[in-house]
Amino acid sequence: MFYNKCMKIIDCHTHLQSEKLIKEYFANTDREFAVSMQALDSLIGNGNEFWDATKKFDNIFVCPCIDLLLPIKKQLEEIDKLSQYNKIIGLKIYTGYQPIFADDERLTPVFEYAMGKGLSVVYHCGVGAENLQSAKGYDYASCLPIAKLAKRYPDVNFIASHFDYPHFDDCAKLITEFENVFTDVSGELENHKNYSNKQLADKFICKIKPVLNKYDIDKLSDKVMFGTDYFGKNSNFYAVEEYIYICESLFGEKNLDKLLFKNCLKAYPKIQKFIN
Ligand SMILES: [Zn+2]
Repeated sequence: MFYNKCMKIIDCHTHLQSEKLIKEYFANTDREFAVSMQALDSLIGNGNEFWDATKKFDNIFVCPCIDLLLPIKKQLEEIDKLSQYNKIIGLKIYTGYQPIFADDERLTPVFEYAMGKGLSVVYHCGVGAENLQSAKGYDYASCLPIAKLAKRYPDVNFIASHFDYPHFDDCAKLITEFENVFTDVSGELENHKNYSNKQLADKFICKIKPVLNKYDIDKLSDKVMFGTDYFGKNSNFYAVEEYIYICESLFGEKNLDKLLFKNCLKAYPKIQKFIN
């Protein structure tokens, strides 16, 4: 592998929500920075420790989640207060886990807030939500409605997480077409113990590669980020090194620094404020 320990790296998508998880994540790795997505209390729980734990570490940036089933304005007010002490860089929306499309009108205050504060808007897209919420064959977790938003809010960056697995073509088209839309490779290696993480990585590469080959790989590599979805050793999401291997295999060594570091700074402009 071309990757070496001198390369700068940000894991753009983790769920490091407790001090224990943060220490566990950095104990066996030379990763420098990580973005932690707050999970919905109604979905995975453990939101309590999230704010205290993440603000203690200079190298953790956070994306609070918006629960679409609770009053949105009140949540934004709360986030505004927290932003005095916490390194907030984006807002996470769990489309698919909740029955709402990415461009739902009820989210307008979220986009306005993101625009005013220079925050990025991150969606759960694809994976994991396949069996959760769907209506009349339409998948709530689809990245496609983001196109409308990208046009309407050219100053807001949108991130369609997980390459919209398995709708890679939708996602590749979207990030190619819109300057302000990005994606990541996180969450593709959900381990149910039957395979090694390396085997899962190879399966994923085989599945996505034919789709990516229809596009200009160098151009695509400006819009894709390294991310893991790390949720702890005892979860189904604990692979880290294998995602670097995926980035390198799919986009080549000459593009690796973009995927591991530079693209994350572009996708989340707010990070600059905390890194320098
Ligand atoms: Zn996630």
